Amino acid sequence: MVCRKSRRPTRNRGGAKASPNLSRTAVAEQLVEIGRQCYARGWALGTSGNFSAVVSRDPLRLAITVSGVDKGLMRENDIVEIDDRGTVVSGSGKPSAEASLHLAVVRARGAGAVLHTHSIWSTILSDTATAGGLEIEGYEMLKGLDGVRTHDHREWLPILDNTQDWASAVPQVESILKEQPNAHGFLIKKHGLYTWGRDLADAKRQVETLEFLFEVMGRKRGMAWQA
Ligand SMILES: [Zn+2]
Repeated sequence: MVCRKSRRPTRNRGGAKASPNLSRTAVAEQLVEIGRQCYARGWALGTSGNFSAVVSRDPLRLAITVSGVDKGLMRENDIVEIDDRGTVVSGSGKPSAEASLHLAVVRARGAGAVLHTHSIWSTILSDTATAGGLEIEGYEMLKGLDGVRTHDHREWLPILDNTQDWASAVPQVESILKEQPNAHGFLIKKHGLYTWGRDLADAKRQVETLEFLFEVMGRKRGMAWQA
């Protein structure tokens, strides 16, 4: 299980910048488990999605899934460790094509883990942007998001245009994260969701929360979501 207490990193007060100090092996085991769970839920089918967790802060080392791996069959050697420029420093394989986005989120949010899913509902709702984002308001499940204590919360998830050149898109992602400091994630149009957390357990809770809310909203509105 991902959430085993003994494997959770120590948190600072306020948490986000706690140094996880986990071994790559321990992190890889957790990433493999997250991958299997997301695959089983239909959120990362057909080799889609990618997942990462900070192994050390200084120097920055990020364990991340390699490109093109089936998340339902993932093994620990499908995780590589990269530095702050995306260069592989441990393990073999090509890191996810979206590694630069993971690094941008880690830098901008002090995240300890970043999860990216390609679910049906996030794909549908990402194509419904009005004013550049998706508003989610009034649902009890919003309390699954970090720091949210009441259903009376308005979550605004920015929606970015898709690209095949994420390295070039990093400045845009950084500026959106800066403009929307309270966002718990963002969507990429016709593509999927990015969210994060202090550690993998936090990030997993946010994925589950957001995916639940996407499905509720999608089912409720049905085809009325069509642009
Ligand atoms: Zn993707």
